Amino acid sequence: MSHEEIHTAPSGPAASEGEEELRPLPRNAVTPKKVRILLTEGKGIEIDWADGHKSAWGFAWLRAACPCVTCHEERLQEGRKPGQPKAQPANLLPMYTPPPIPVTVHRVGNYAIRFHWQDGHSGGIYSWDYLRRHCQCKECTFTTAKTSGAPN
Ligand SMILES: [Zn+2]
Ligand SMILES: [Zn+2]
Repeated sequence: MSHEEIHTAPSGPAASEGEEELRPLPRNAVTPKKVRILLTEGKGIEIDWADGHKSAWGFAWLRAACPCVTCHEERLQEGRKPGQPKAQPANLLPMYTPPPIPVTVHRVGNYAIRFHWQDGHSGGIYSWDYLRRHCQCKECTFTTAKTSGAPN
C-alpha cells in the first residue's frame, strides 16, 4: 500500500524538435515554373518555382552534388556535402582545371533533370525535390544551416 502520488511532471516541451527526417515539400515548392539552362554561358541552371521562389546553381556545384550512388558514397566517405568540391591533392602543383560543364542537359520525365558532363559522367538524376532542398539562395542556406544541427 503506497501513498505515492502520481506526478505528471512537466518534462519539457514535446520532443518535436530536431526533426531529422526530410519532410515532404509542398507540391508547388518542387514544381518548376521555368527552368533556364545557361549552358552556352557555362553558368548553371536557374529555376523559378511555382511557389514564387527562385533558385540557381552553378555547374561546378551541380557536378559536385551529383546524386548518383557512386558520387553519393564518395561524398559520404570523404565527408563532403552535396556541392562541396573534392579536396585538391596537396602534393600536386596547382593546375588550372576547367570548371565542369555539361555537354548536354536532358529533362527526365517531368520530375528531374540530367546532365551529361564533359568528363563522361552522366549517372546523376537531379530531381526537382533534390534541387529545391539544396537551393543555394541566402534564405535557404541560412535555414538549413540552422536546422541541420551538427556540421558533420
Ligand atoms: Zn555521379
Ligand atoms: Zn532558396
